[in-house]
Amino acid sequence: MPKNRQSGFATRAIHIGQEPDAETGAVSAPIHPTSTYVQQELGKNKGYEYARVSNPTRTRLEENLAALEGGIAARTFASGMAAINAICTMFKSGDHVVCGNDLYGGVPRLFNQVLAGYGIEFTYVDTSDVKNVERAIRKNTRMVYVETPTNPLMALSDLEAISKVCRHKKVELVVDNTFMSPYFQQPIALGADMVVHSTTKFLNGHSDGLGGVVVCTIPEQAEKLAFVQKAAGAILSPFECWLILRGVKTLAVRMERHDRNGRFVAEFLARHKKVRKVFYPGLPEHPQYELAQKQMSGFGSMITFETGSLSNAKKLLKKVRVCSLAESLGGVETLISHPATMTHAALGEKGRRQIGITDGMVRISVGIENVEDIIDDLDQALATI
Ligand SMILES: *Cc1c(COP(=O)(O)O)cnc(C)c1O
Repeated sequence: MPKNRQSGFATRAIHIGQEPDAETGAVSAPIHPTSTYVQQELGKNKGYEYARVSNPTRTRLEENLAALEGGIAARTFASGMAAINAICTMFKSGDHVVCGNDLYGGVPRLFNQVLAGYGIEFTYVDTSDVKNVERAIRKNTRMVYVETPTNPLMALSDLEAISKVCRHKKVELVVDNTFMSPYFQQPIALGADMVVHSTTKFLNGHSDGLGGVVVCTIPEQAEKLAFVQKAAGAILSPFECWLILRGVKTLAVRMERHDRNGRFVAEFLARHKKVRKVFYPGLPEHPQYELAQKQMSGFGSMITFETGSLSNAKKLLKKVRVCSLAESLGGVETLISHPATMTHAALGEKGRRQIGITDGMVRISVGIENVEDIIDDLDQALATI
């Protein structure tokens, strides 16, 4: 079975880091729930000493995720936020970061309420226009941090154009690829220096474990992040590593189905007379439909739509039965949420208004159920508004 990095995506997902156990032949990677490793003699061991530093199940997962994103190495952390924080621990007081103004809600919370206190400065711009990024970069800028598509507005940023600016200005481009997964978007191939994921979402895919990863393109990043794993300790447990290793085996088929269901649901919503607007990069009316086709190989299953008011959104969310009202995304089950009071509550009313998040907006992470059932469910719930 070909297992090299040139193999197809699904083959790599199932085979890289997923080799049968050398000792027993077990096809599924063993979980090593150990805190420490016996050493043969002083200074001589089998490559493992203490589990905060490394663990064989984690080694396998990191190899696998690096191969899926086209990086040279990956470093996993206890959650997506822990992974993003790990990148920022490489900065010093006085360093500056340029980032998108429509990010996952937890990211500005970390930046403004934790890291700003250590003297790191943040500038928020609309990264869907590369000129805004270029203008915001200063002498002390270390990183440009981009999510594409954004959450919940599904705006895209042109990664190739931004990476050119970053290269020219010698600033690292970090891309949060959680929404698309490496199956539909490959930021490193488009010029990104690092890719982060909340593996909690599509990579694990079953809403049963938290995790985060940083995929690196140069050994220096991988070394520094391994040091952060060891020094700060927000590592991923062996069981969580195993869950993700299991999850990625079906990533390709899940993403195909997520994408297919997402397109059907987006088209249904776009036709529905109670729905004022649909935000989905796979609809030709999306303002960046052309960029979506160029930079992504699918459109995924994240859709935001406008119901017109808070009371309409409330009625709809109360009536859904197949869709579950819950935070998070990327699981096999369809999850529906209300950005203004859930994921983006911390932004405040003014902050939300500035970027265009309204009280009537509903976000849906379309699962891999039978799409007719999801559509029927939304249809009966929309009938009540
Ligand atoms: C969920 C999410 C995060 C944070 O990840 P956790 O695993 O919840 O810590 C970061 N970025 C995006 C885009 C996310 O959806």
